[in-house]
Amino acid sequence: MSDEQHEQQHKAAEPKGSPVSRRAFVNAAALAGLGLAGAQASAQTRAESKRGRTGNSASDPGEENKPLLAENPDSNDPPFTDHGDVGAIWFSFDLVKKRLQGGGWTRQVTERELPTSKELAGVNMRLTAGSFRELHWHTADEWAYMITGDARVSCLQPDGKMFLDDVKAGDLWYFPAGLPHSIQGIGSDGCEFLLVFDEGDFSEDANFLLWYCLAHTPPEVVRKNMGWSEAEFDQLPSSELYIFEAPLPKSLEEDKQAIGGFLETENRYTFHLSGMPPAKTTAGGTVHIVDSTNFPVARNVAMGLVRIKPNGLRELHWHPSGSEWQFYLEGKGRMTVFKPGSRARTQDYNANDVGFVPTMAGHYIENTGTGDLVYLELFKTAKFQDVALNDWIARMPPEMAQAHLKLSAAAIAKVPQKKNEVLPA
Ligand code: MN
Ligand code: MN
Repeated sequence: MSDEQHEQQHKAAEPKGSPVSRRAFVNAAALAGLGLAGAQASAQTRAESKRGRTGNSASDPGEENKPLLAENPDSNDPPFTDHGDVGAIWFSFDLVKKRLQGGGWTRQVTERELPTSKELAGVNMRLTAGSFRELHWHTADEWAYMITGDARVSCLQPDGKMFLDDVKAGDLWYFPAGLPHSIQGIGSDGCEFLLVFDEGDFSEDANFLLWYCLAHTPPEVVRKNMGWSEAEFDQLPSSELYIFEAPLPKSLEEDKQAIGGFLETENRYTFHLSGMPPAKTTAGGTVHIVDSTNFPVARNVAMGLVRIKPNGLRELHWHPSGSEWQFYLEGKGRMTVFKPGSRARTQDYNANDVGFVPTMAGHYIENTGTGDLVYLELFKTAKFQDVALNDWIARMPPEMAQAHLKLSAAAIAKVPQKKNEVLPA
């Protein structure tokens, strides 16, 4: 636990009648000149928090890990509005080990690395041109976003029909649990992609691989099942392949012709997001939404792809449908997550980082970089949904808003009168 977290927990646990707390209370009340007990208690916290940022209080004479501090200034020196412990809301793919093999690599950020994320887990994978992720299936649904390059994917349905397609940067795929599938890097340099699974403790190292099925079946049963002799059984790979190099495939059309009448053409397991217009465009950026309404096979994972212009803001909101798992694709930003009990935590995010928002928790995302900030919002749900704080204030009778916010009608009317998703600077 960091000193800052420790200090915040200590403050939260401090009894209200303790001498330190009473003294601070009196000071704060005198400084702020407030009349209400609730407002004084709140002012005390703020005054104390602000004092920690003046004079010599924030100095740090010991050694520092400066590159890490530069990555996350808002955690090192949190805004005075932060308070208490909201749990883990950040991890990075660049902090986990890669499993490197001829043909590519894989690495994962799951519940083991980010213990708060129980609903979704992520895997980042690279396949060079021609290389395969060994044929497999698993207990979780698999949602994917192509980060760069080209891939050929296939998926077998229980009715014996085979789906086959090529995807490029920005495209998605979705393989429901139990359906066996393939991924092969194609084009001039293969691909890199993000996989998201609807099980927090998912592991890419523990799937049903084609090899396991054959390696652990007695050869006489393999002969009955496949017709392969014991000599042919002995030629099968002696260990799992996982990721391996292979020649580039034939053209998509030729491979489809080879499948013939068994080619699946009704259910689409890929989604060509590249080139699709945004669901929402505002002065501050764009939002693409892909969920079961426009990608019917994606029954358990919904996506928002958010692009925020420099200094723009993904407005204060929350999601009534579960926790949010984020992947930062581009740029630099910061997020504050608000939880009940007056708890708030601000954290910075860079490309390749994973963000997490507990279910229903309020949050905003601000672009703090010089270019666009682009990230994915993912939910274990059939439909993307969010509730915006501005929308709530704008829709309630003005007197209701004034009674709660203690602001003039003119100030209340400044709040944007429609849902924006992304606000300009
Ligand atoms: Mn898979
Ligand atoms: Mn959100």
